[in-house]
Amino acid sequence: MDYKIRTWPDKILKQKTKEITYFDDKLKTYTDIMFQKMYQEEGVGLAANQIGIPYQILVIDTNIRKYESQEDEDGVKLALVNPKIVHKEGEIESTEGCLSFPGVQITIPRAERVKVIAKDIEGKDIEIDTDGFLAIVLQHEIDHLNGIPFINYLPPVKKRMVLNKYLKNIKQSTKAK
Ligand SMILES: [Zn+2]
Repeated sequence: MDYKIRTWPDKILKQKTKEITYFDDKLKTYTDIMFQKMYQEEGVGLAANQIGIPYQILVIDTNIRKYESQEDEDGVKLALVNPKIVHKEGEIESTEGCLSFPGVQITIPRAERVKVIAKDIEGKDIEIDTDGFLAIVLQHEIDHLNGIPFINYLPPVKKRMVLNKYLKNIKQSTKAK
């Protein structure tokens, strides 16, 4: 299978991914491929459906791009299975890009703090209560697993503008090939 990055408007990015019920070697393989792909593309996070895997898996490594306010802190490397946000608190503005929307960078509202429950790849429970950059990445990637693209947080008129420009750009770059 070809695990290339899926870009909008690929259908798989609009669908809710399936829950993992077996914590087996296949899951480990998926996770390895996802980390590899994420490092290749220099992303800080990747949801499985972004490379065509229709399951609730995400990987994050915030060492890749340290947040300005946390430069002295070590980043976090995580693989989460079936992650769910169970609590949100506060609101902040977040400027984000997305590997599935090349060239798009937008500022949208996000919760400042989140609590996430998930499993690790062995099926053990994980609970993360965090704010700052990691909280933003978690929200972005968990949205992907639920079929929600980050442009959905823009007001309708702005969303249409951003999308039209993006679609025009990818049409041009396809023609150029
Ligand atoms: Zn994304």
